[in-house]
Amino acid sequence: MLLQLQERLKRLHRREDVSAAEWGDWRWQLRHRLETLEELEQFVELTDEERRGIAIAPGLFRIGITPYYAALMDRQHPKCPIRMQVIPTAAEEKVSPGEYVDPLGEDALSPDGVPCIVHRYPDRVLFLALDRCAIYCRHCNRRRMVGQETGMISRHEIERGLEYIRRTPAVRDVLISGGDPLTLSTDKLEWIVSEVRKIAHVEIVRIGTRVPVCLPMRVDDQLTSMLKKYHPLYINTHFNHPKELTDDARVACERLADAGIPLGNQCVLLRGVNSQPRTIEVLNRGLLKMRVKPYYLFQGDPVQGTDHLRTPVSAGLEILEHLRGRITGMGIPHLVIDAPGGGGKIPLLPNYLLSWGTDRLTLRNYLHQPVTYVEPQERDCSCAYDEVYFASP
Ligand SMILES: *Cc1c(COP(=O)(O)O)cnc(C)c1O
Ligand code: SF4
Repeated sequence: MLLQLQERLKRLHRREDVSAAEWGDWRWQLRHRLETLEELEQFVELTDEERRGIAIAPGLFRIGITPYYAALMDRQHPKCPIRMQVIPTAAEEKVSPGEYVDPLGEDALSPDGVPCIVHRYPDRVLFLALDRCAIYCRHCNRRRMVGQETGMISRHEIERGLEYIRRTPAVRDVLISGGDPLTLSTDKLEWIVSEVRKIAHVEIVRIGTRVPVCLPMRVDDQLTSMLKKYHPLYINTHFNHPKELTDDARVACERLADAGIPLGNQCVLLRGVNSQPRTIEVLNRGLLKMRVKPYYLFQGDPVQGTDHLRTPVSAGLEILEHLRGRITGMGIPHLVIDAPGGGGKIPLLPNYLLSWGTDRLTLRNYLHQPVTYVEPQERDCSCAYDEVYFASP
């Protein structure tokens, strides 16, 4: 696999001889990202739509593709799921009804003077540790703030974020996101994670990252031996298509899992990329083999210029309907719409409840066979021992 990827890369950088050591060096990968029409042209047969997309991208959202991820692209087929996630098209120019710059109303949820914190739910916060990523995904819901020329969340801002968590005892769960936190240097990431860990009321730390998907060589021994000092630590990644489940990605996930880090996947439904039930079934089976638990399946957020990538809500429901009964419950994610404007995540489920009477329910199973459940005679759900167990000391 690696040799094959390397061969492709050599063809891309014709004048350069790429050694295995360079290819496997995550900083080399970041330095050699494909960003321009000239670079992309050497690699794929671009359509007019893509050419136009690349031309308008500077005013809309940055282009950046690691050589590793670029090597997964299909040279000829413009509907290649890798290509569709990272090469812009003319459709990004169009703003459709219901689309926003900040679809989840995140900016309004930052405490005063602490822009790198988004505090929506009482017990947990999003901590935006940087505004850079390894690749720039065309469906990104934070495209307003990632990959900008200016930007760069400063050390001072991160300190204010830490200070906010220290003085907010209700926060039990800190989700370090961005941008992509695993593109920080190990030292800087360790500073942030260790400072968060020192806060007594923080119970769990989570990191959101696309690195296992687009820069798997970043998951090196230095990183995993640093991270495993800060348990309980969870990582959620973002695989969208089985084509991304390479040997390199598997090795990256296994290293993280071997460091004791439970892994989840947050997949975004993308029309024409993964909008078929079979695609998600194969993706989720593959993820479980790589020790990654499918966690969320997101309906696309209404970000300006992403209409062409969003699915109708029915597509997600059909996928869940298909998965139930065909794949272990461990491989079935929560399908959610993150409320536009900022109301939080709302779960969606196909309807399994046909009727609910006073003493019995009629349900249906995955084969659409009706099933009756008779309720128990007694229904008082209080737990008498709770008074003892939860009594204050
Ligand atoms: C998604 C999200 C979280 C985390 O939600 P979980 O359901 O706990 O994974 C936290 N804060 C914000 C603002 C979010 O959007
Ligand atoms: S890695 Fe995440 S934050 Fe970065 S561009 Fe992709 S979706 Fe956006």
